[in-house]
Amino acid sequence: MRISVDPAACDGFGYCAELVPELMALDEWGFPVVSQHEVPGELLDAARQAARACPRRALLLAGPSRRS
Ligand code: SF4
Repeated sequence: MRISVDPAACDGFGYCAELVPELMALDEWGFPVVSQHEVPGELLDAARQAARACPRRALLLAGPSRRS
């Protein structure tokens, strides 16, 4: 699973960096910078929670389909 930010939608409140500081940092203007795109299994729940908490739906989680 990979995490990314849609910069056109993000308004920079920074909730995501508070919820998953292991994956996100804030730049000097308060906009998130993904420090680790691949989400380790132990952070998956926290990453999903951060994506749900994003008020602009700008935090995106995507992974390969489970179908083969
Ligand atoms: S929570 Fe959403 S809108 Fe806020 S900084 Fe993170 S990605 Fe941007």
